[in-house]
Amino acid sequence: MKKVAVLGATGSIGGNTLDVIARHPQRFRATVLTANRQVAALAELCVRHRPELAVIADPALEGELSRRLAAAGVRCDVASGHQAITDAAAGTLCDTVVAAIVGAAGLDSTLAAAQAGKHLLLANKESIVMAGALLLEAVRVGGGALVPVDSEHNAVFQCLPGGRPELTRSGVRRLILTASGGPFRGRTRAELAGITPDQACKHPNWVMGRKISVDSATLMNKGLEVIEAHHLFGAPADAIDVLVHPQSLVHSMVEYVDGSVLAQLGNPDMRTAIAHALAWPERVESGVPSLDLAACAPLAFEAPDLSTFRCLALAYQALRAGGDSPAILNAANEVAVEAFLAGALPFLSIADVVESVLTELPGQAVVDVGALCERDRIARASARRVLQHAC
Ligand code: NAD
Ligand code: MG
Repeated sequence: MKKVAVLGATGSIGGNTLDVIARHPQRFRATVLTANRQVAALAELCVRHRPELAVIADPALEGELSRRLAAAGVRCDVASGHQAITDAAAGTLCDTVVAAIVGAAGLDSTLAAAQAGKHLLLANKESIVMAGALLLEAVRVGGGALVPVDSEHNAVFQCLPGGRPELTRSGVRRLILTASGGPFRGRTRAELAGITPDQACKHPNWVMGRKISVDSATLMNKGLEVIEAHHLFGAPADAIDVLVHPQSLVHSMVEYVDGSVLAQLGNPDMRTAIAHALAWPERVESGVPSLDLAACAPLAFEAPDLSTFRCLALAYQALRAGGDSPAILNAANEVAVEAFLAGALPFLSIADVVESVLTELPGQAVVDVGALCERDRIARASARRVLQHAC
């Protein structure tokens, strides 16, 4: 029986994870559930999944969570605050941690789970973009395993022998990450001028949280994924290609030196990657229907439009610049996306904000998490200054 902590339980990945867990009561149990401020949703999940501990990030909501659980007759421990989530990720109530908090807010708990040697299911891509080398070192020292949940990386993981080998010794030529192209594929810059948050969040194939939906629309999501792939699989930027595939059925590919290309396919439903990562190295039913390729054919592929969707080019630039440039890119992007979602920044200006901050703050060597968080703070402040001028 695996005891699973679902960090970010009220989100899109959290919900899909709990769906898979509920299909296998003999194998998995959700022992820890956490959320940011969605106290009613968290209480409801506790009623359904009966964890041992529920943690709400906002301390002002702890009392309400306790009251709701008591009223529903749920007996579980309740805690609150950022540190309580981090402690739960490293604590004895779980052996498996699903890192599904969105943004840099997930870094501490993801690192804590790695250091504690947990079986770590990584959805929170921002933490590996920010602190890739530190996170992988924590996994190594902690002695646990990291299995990627991001569908592209989960696909690459499945196409590599042993999951994460030394790429050149395994004869890998390149990784090909597929991208749906987002809701604005094929549009010109002029056509993107007046895009609203709701338009940007309407993804053609996936139902996701609002931040990652905007990232998918700008192609920053694919940029973050290129950086994520670099860290997870030890591939240099030049060996990671992006290919637009609007149907999102081929989730990514690995090309070998002999010309073989291995792909992982499936319906666009995150439960496949989650079930794979939860049960790995075994396989379990995920609830995802069989893929009917005849009904989907022909499959389409095209090159990404890097001049319209500049965020992807900026992410490659940050990866090549090295040091903490990816963390700077991530921080600037989080601030810009938040401003866009609040109606305070035009869609096309997200890339401008990221570019300005990258120019202002050249990459520095990554020393430790403390220094990285300080640079994250500086980059956010810089992004807010750029925003003030932009608006
Ligand atoms: P979401 O917005 O639906 O859910 C985010 C979760 O994190 C919620 O439970 C929320 O309460 C919690 N949270 C937010 N801010 C927090 C904070 N400051 N402290 C503690 N908890 C906080 O997001 P999502 O779409 O589920 O994405 C989660 C992560 O998984 C992101 O990093 C995203 O990039 C990644 N991911 C998502 C998908 C997908 O299909 N949704 C696919 C691949 C990767
Ligand atoms: Mg992805």
